[in-house]
Amino acid sequence: MIPFLNLKDVNAKLREELLEACARVIDSGWYIAGNELSAFEREYAAYCGSTHCIGVANGLDALTLTLRAWLELGRLQEGDEVIVPANTYIATLLAITENALTPVLVEPDDDSFNLSPGSVAAALGKRTRAILPVHLYGRLADMQGLLEVADQHKLLVLEDAAQGHGASIGGRKAGNWGNAAGFSFYPGKNLGALGDAGAITTSDEELADTLRALRNYGSHVKYRNLYQGLNSRLDEIQAAMLRVKLKHLDEQTAQRREIARRYLNEIDNPAVRLPAWGQEEEHVWHLFVVRSQRRDRLQQLLDKAGVQTMIHYPIAPHKQKAYTEFNHIELPITERIHEEVLSLPMDPGMTQEQVSRVIETVNQANP
Ligand SMILES: *Cc1c(COP(=O)(O)O)cnc(C)c1O
Repeated sequence: MIPFLNLKDVNAKLREELLEACARVIDSGWYIAGNELSAFEREYAAYCGSTHCIGVANGLDALTLTLRAWLELGRLQEGDEVIVPANTYIATLLAITENALTPVLVEPDDDSFNLSPGSVAAALGKRTRAILPVHLYGRLADMQGLLEVADQHKLLVLEDAAQGHGASIGGRKAGNWGNAAGFSFYPGKNLGALGDAGAITTSDEELADTLRALRNYGSHVKYRNLYQGLNSRLDEIQAAMLRVKLKHLDEQTAQRREIARRYLNEIDNPAVRLPAWGQEEEHVWHLFVVRSQRRDRLQQLLDKAGVQTMIHYPIAPHKQKAYTEFNHIELPITERIHEEVLSLPMDPGMTQEQVSRVIETVNQANP
C-alpha cells in the first residue's frame, strides 16, 4: 500500500536532531513558556516576515483567540459578521461561533477552492467587520484582491493559514498579509509538531500583547488577570520539535512541489480533474486534491490497487449536525466540491517509484 502520508518515516529522517532537542528540554528543567518557545516564536515570525508570533495550544485556539482579542480590544462586537469560505474545515467556523460572531458562508472559486474578492464584495452587509480567508490545501488565497476589499470597507482580515506554511506571492508569505494569521502545527500539517500546537503571527503589537495574556489565563503578570483568559500554551518540548522541523520546511515544500509537478504533468484520465497551480510559490501542496464525478468509485479502485487516498472533506460545515441553523442554506459549488474531491498521496518522503505507481494507478482507473 502506498500510504497517504507516512509521518513515521518523515520524522524518522530527523530522529537524531529531534532527540537532541528533546534532551535539551529535559535537561533544562523548564517545560512551559521558556527559551524554546521564545526562540521558536522569533524564528517563525522571521520565517513568515511578521513582527510577532504567539505560540498557542493548537490551530483552532489560534483563530478563536485572535477573534476574542479583537472583541476585548473593541474592534469587534458580538453579532458582527465574519465572511468565511463555505468549503473550509470546521475549525474556521467554530472559531467564529465560539465568539458569538456570525459567520457569513461564501462560495469559493471553483478552480482555486479559495475565497475570491468578487464574492466577498457581493456578501458584504451592514454588520460585516472581518474576512477570514483560508489558504485551503496549501494555496494562498488572492490576498492582494481581498486586502483591497478589506481596505475599502475597513474590515479586519484573519488568515486561516493552517494549511499554508510558507506559501507566498511576490515573496510575501502566508501569515504576513492579514491583520493576523492563525497557524496549526498538528502533526500532519506541512510544519507539524509531535503533538498539538499552533500560533498566531501579526505585526500589530497591541494584538500580540492581548494574545500573550489571553493564552495564559488573561495574565501578563503572574496572579494579575486582565481578562477571563484560558490556558492555551505551546509546550517547550513541542516548540523544540518545531524548531527542528522549521529548518527542514523549505526542503520538504520543494519535495511536495516536485510530486505535484509530476502528478500534474503525467496524470491523464478524463474522469479526473486536476487542481490548478497558478504561480510557483503560491502553493505549498499541503494536499493534492483531484475531482471526479465518480469520486467514491475512484477511491475504491485506487484502494484495491494499493493507493491510499483521503477526502478533505466529506461533509460541508453547513451540512453538519453541529450547525443545524445553517442546514437549510444552499451552496451548490461548495456541496459539489464535497462530493467530488479526493486527496492523492502527498508525502515529502515519497520515492519517484511511488509517485510513478500513483500516476499509473490513477491513469488506469476507470471509475
Ligand atoms: C488543521 C486546521 C485547523 C485547526 O488546527 P488544529 O491544530 O487541528 O486545531 C484550522 N483550519 C484549517 C483550515 C485546518 O486545516
